[in-house]
Amino acid sequence: MTTSFTHAVITGGAGFLGSHLCERLLASGTRVICLDDFSSGRRENVAHLLGEPGFRLVEHDVTEPWDPGRGAGRVDLVAHLASAASPVDYFSRPIATLRAGSQGTENALGLAGRHGARFLLASTSEVYGDPQEHPQPESYRGHVDPIGPRSVYDEAKRYAEAMTSAHRREYGLDTTIARIFNTYGPRMRPDDGRMVPAFLGQALAGKPLTVAGTGEQTRSLCYVDDTVGGLLALAGSGHPGPVNIGNPQERSVREFAEAINDLVGLGSPIGHVPAAVDDPCRRCPDITLAREQIGWEPEVELSDGLARTSAWFAARMPVADPA
Ligand code: NAD
Repeated sequence: MTTSFTHAVITGGAGFLGSHLCERLLASGTRVICLDDFSSGRRENVAHLLGEPGFRLVEHDVTEPWDPGRGAGRVDLVAHLASAASPVDYFSRPIATLRAGSQGTENALGLAGRHGARFLLASTSEVYGDPQEHPQPESYRGHVDPIGPRSVYDEAKRYAEAMTSAHRREYGLDTTIARIFNTYGPRMRPDDGRMVPAFLGQALAGKPLTVAGTGEQTRSLCYVDDTVGGLLALAGSGHPGPVNIGNPQERSVREFAEAINDLVGLGSPIGHVPAAVDDPCRRCPDITLAREQIGWEPEVELSDGLARTSAWFAARMPVADPA
């Protein structure tokens, strides 16, 4: 069963996933307040929504409390996405990342509690760390280094899950947790260090594709429309989570590089750079729970999703100077 919402607050709504979520909710008739401090998101991601009567953009840091005020009416969905999400971003802002997951989550839960709203936490497959069980079901408890450079993100999300679960138990809040696996699509930043924008930027510029390590490590990529569909199905389901939202088709990083190279067709060479610290070897969701409990599974084929993403990036590439 999918419930529709009348009034949603999306923290991190000007980011990659958040902007698509704002767009989908608006299209279904939900009024949307997008809260963002633009630390990794961009105004241009939501610029096309600014004229919509149901859309409001508020520049705000979620580590400070916020409420739309009585005049704005009751909020019935709070989706907490505000957090650095790419390694480039959380390596450069480690403390802010921990605070978005800790104080930011508590503030977003407080907002949901005051309004009696459904609360959706955008958690991550990173809570599984470098997994020793494969594929990863929600019951897997993870293999995380609590002090390594990635810990600021992984542990912030694990804390956010604990805080969300405690609010459910202690205050009876209607909460849910989505464990989102790698997602790609239009509006990713070309410089955010994630695999698809990095390979696409290189392939479209005819430069070598830089595969980290051997390239034998695996990833499972979900197209953004599918991920947002999963978040909405979970939000509307009444399920407490956590529920994995991702695409279970696992491929090696080298295979992704080759697929992108073939799609762009400029014949770039494939090179190698050192693997990042704590880079997981394998990452693949078990989505049995999502299929059975919220009736969701991804639909977009990799070739189709990559073609849509490549077209979006190509339209925004700087035009080469003919001189
Ligand atoms: P993103 O960086 O594009 O979006 C995050 C947004 O949060 C940005 O707009 C940023 O400006 C905002 N933000 C960060 N700190 C904030 C703060 N203190 N106050 C207000 N706004 C703040 O990243 P994304 O890929 O869209 O990820 C969105 C959410 O989904 C994150 O919580 C991330 O952990 C989760 N997630 C994403 C993926 C993925 O593959 N994209 C995978 C797993 C989990």
